Amino acid sequence: MLIRKSNKLANICYEIRGPVLEEAMRMEDEGQRILKLNIGNPAPFGFEAPDEILVDVIKNLPTAQGYCESKGLFSARKAVMQKYQALGVKSADVNHVWMGNGVSELIVMAMQALLNDGDEILVPAPDYPLWTAAATLSGGYVKHYLCDEENGWQPDLQDIKSKISNKTKALVIINPNNPTGAVYSKETLQGLVALAEEHGLLLFSDEIYDKILYDGATHLPTSTLTEGRIPCITFGGLSKVYRTAGFRAGWMILTGPRTGVSDYIAGLDMLSSMRLCANVPAQHAVQTALGGYQSINELIVPGGRLYEQRKVAWETLNDIPGVTCHQPEGALYLFPKLDRKMYDIRNDIDIVLQFLKEEKVLIVQGTGFNWPTHDHVRFVFLPHVEELQPAMSRFANFLHRMRNK
Ligand code: PLP
Repeated sequence: MLIRKSNKLANICYEIRGPVLEEAMRMEDEGQRILKLNIGNPAPFGFEAPDEILVDVIKNLPTAQGYCESKGLFSARKAVMQKYQALGVKSADVNHVWMGNGVSELIVMAMQALLNDGDEILVPAPDYPLWTAAATLSGGYVKHYLCDEENGWQPDLQDIKSKISNKTKALVIINPNNPTGAVYSKETLQGLVALAEEHGLLLFSDEIYDKILYDGATHLPTSTLTEGRIPCITFGGLSKVYRTAGFRAGWMILTGPRTGVSDYIAGLDMLSSMRLCANVPAQHAVQTALGGYQSINELIVPGGRLYEQRKVAWETLNDIPGVTCHQPEGALYLFPKLDRKMYDIRNDIDIVLQFLKEEKVLIVQGTGFNWPTHDHVRFVFLPHVEELQPAMSRFANFLHRMRNK
């Protein structure tokens, strides 16, 4: 019997958990110890959820055994509504919040509800690759717009403009950005909103790292700029800011004018009810997480774990000849550029595989984030400095061996 995967999967790529990870797992099966810097999963590196979140989930377990309303628990949706209202988004309301099994599920839902075959959607390059995968799987055609490394990885508005056609339906923003760590300026965001408004595009703003900010960077929620102008769907969740990626708790909230989007909202409601509901125990944590003490703030300031780890990893990378790296203003990642004149790099997957085999550290190739050229890799800076520093130095040694003679 031959069972083949569907043709729909032919062009789908999700390399963060792709073939390179399979090789790492094979090596682990052989008894080798691999340091996995390939995925933004805080818990395995000793980042713990705030106690009050755990207590809330445990306390509510007895009443969380059944399905809840498809869109999510009222308490969770109300907390999400209040989060955005407190930021100044007056139009945030509880009926336009959908809870999901992480932002991941909601991205897939948002794409499935929107795209007909051949509809175009603008997604950043580099991107968090689920956006491209979900849009493609839904029959959409992804046009990647460039983020400009020379300009702190801010989206290139001219490039976006040049890629808008009469088939373009939506524009995706990831801010703070994975994989670049860029936090977008007010001017950039105003430009993005103006383009969406001018061309009638639905805006999707993935803000899952909205509170992971360094060196005084400020995050401006896109929804604060779209009020009274255009609809905007913002994505957020507990995975990163509250270090509970395994709970699978995320949300999306539609704000701004509703005119013209009621049919799309009906589509979202339909998909939401088809999957019955999101994980109920985790939804009990949302109100406590959003309304309580924001312990993430202790981790992102000098002396805090994330701050110090980012510093060490960035400094080590930037000291390597032929490596340049934008210092992230937000999120959990570094996306350095490797000078291909200096290093023998034909294919970025080969580099990542070779580094894995020789130094037992797993990272992800830049093309896995839909970056067009083979000259970037992504590091996660989640391990303690004592583990991270030697791993970064091993990358320096590895590149030294790769140097063109
Ligand atoms: N969006 C971005 C930009 C991410 O980096 C991630 C995870 O790494 C997600 C969404 C998905 O997060 P989750 O499904 O855990 O909420």
